[in-house]
Amino acid sequence: MRSRLRVTADEVPFSVMHSFHYRDGELFCEEVRLAQAAEEFGTPLYLYSAATILDHYHRLDRALHEIDHLISYAVKANSNGAILKLLSNAGAGFDIVSGGELFRVLRAGGDPGRCTFAGVGKTPEEMGYALEQRVYCLNVESEGELERIEEIADAKNIRAPVALRINPDVQAHTHEYVSTGSEENKFGITLADAPRLYARAAQMRHIDLRGVQMHIGSQITAAAPFAEAIRKVTPLARELKEKYGIEFLSIGGGLGIVYERSIASGERAWWAEGHQLSIQEYADAILPELRGLGLRILLEPGRLLVGNAGVLLTRVLYLKESGRKRFAVVDAGMNDLIRPALYGSYHEIVPVEQPSTEQRSEIDIVGPVCESGDFLARDREMPPVAAGDLLAVMSTGAYGFTMASNYNSRLLPAEALVDGNCVRLIRRRQTWQDLVCGETDC
Ligand SMILES: *Cc1c(COP(=O)(O)O)cnc(C)c1O
Repeated sequence: MRSRLRVTADEVPFSVMHSFHYRDGELFCEEVRLAQAAEEFGTPLYLYSAATILDHYHRLDRALHEIDHLISYAVKANSNGAILKLLSNAGAGFDIVSGGELFRVLRAGGDPGRCTFAGVGKTPEEMGYALEQRVYCLNVESEGELERIEEIADAKNIRAPVALRINPDVQAHTHEYVSTGSEENKFGITLADAPRLYARAAQMRHIDLRGVQMHIGSQITAAAPFAEAIRKVTPLARELKEKYGIEFLSIGGGLGIVYERSIASGERAWWAEGHQLSIQEYADAILPELRGLGLRILLEPGRLLVGNAGVLLTRVLYLKESGRKRFAVVDAGMNDLIRPALYGSYHEIVPVEQPSTEQRSEIDIVGPVCESGDFLARDREMPPVAAGDLLAVMSTGAYGFTMASNYNSRLLPAEALVDGNCVRLIRRRQTWQDLVCGETDC
């Protein structure tokens, strides 16, 4: 094992670098006491660290400084306007998957010329909107979609900048619901089909071939699948550059973060767990393939930028025992954070007040929703928990709020952003009136 002393900042798994830490016996985000934020805004509350988001962005940016690149934040990970504004001001572009996400980016002052539009099921309305707003590129996933874009561009008499999403057929070794780069997935066009489709697109009167794209999955914690996918696609990228003058290769997102033991076991707990993917390792693996390509490289990280930058604060409502099981019923449920129920995801959960004992015992942390799948953690070793305690569900900045719903007519939680010693509300909690405001027959 390598010596801890020789670890440089960029070798530390990027995901563990976050601004949540215990100080004076309680959990802080940057200079803000989480207990104070919960007091002020109520629970459940998503709370994000601006410093952590920018730190991840800048470190990835620096690691790639030697090549022409653009970091296009995948908006679906966390689409709050305040976060989009933060990243837009830092120079990020945006990878969007719906007209709604483009609307959000524009509203936050994002540059459409730095937006790429992904997704297998873009509607004609969404395509028209994106073309009118002059997005940088539409990433196309099927021949039918290509034909539709040509039709719409023809009707509007505008140029349509297009890239094809290639499915490089690699195994990303991640959860089956978030693996996208093998031939069994619905995503992309096979390498074998690509030359014919590019040739066809080149014949279309309104299409400008601008790039080639891929994205092999999410929460990938090894560099090898990224490198393999790039190796498989670069010959095609070279050929397309020569034939059609494409200007970019997008290598997608999918960089994994650390979900386990990022805080409870103390500083650098990840080290004992074995080496995880670091920015430097990722850059070392991909740069050799990309250096001589002469193409602009787009990256589409979502989870990496915001995942470890957020927590979900929730309060314990009741303790309950049944048979041998113990439950802590909390005020956040699967409607607030669906990842444990949907993917069986692990999120570290820590008390906001630092535990004064080493004592741990198993407990299920469950929400108020009427489903047995409504849990945040099962059989979790936790320090003593009491009704009224405040808990922080760690690493919930990505695919947390954006996947929240009103199931059980529960209100969408509030969101807050910390910047230094300031914390401000960036989305107010919903009200009961919000629940019914779109309903028309009552
Ligand atoms: C979801 C998605 C991403 C972001 O994935 P992360 O795992 O959050 O980095 C990037 N590109 C495309 C096309 C996506 O669908």
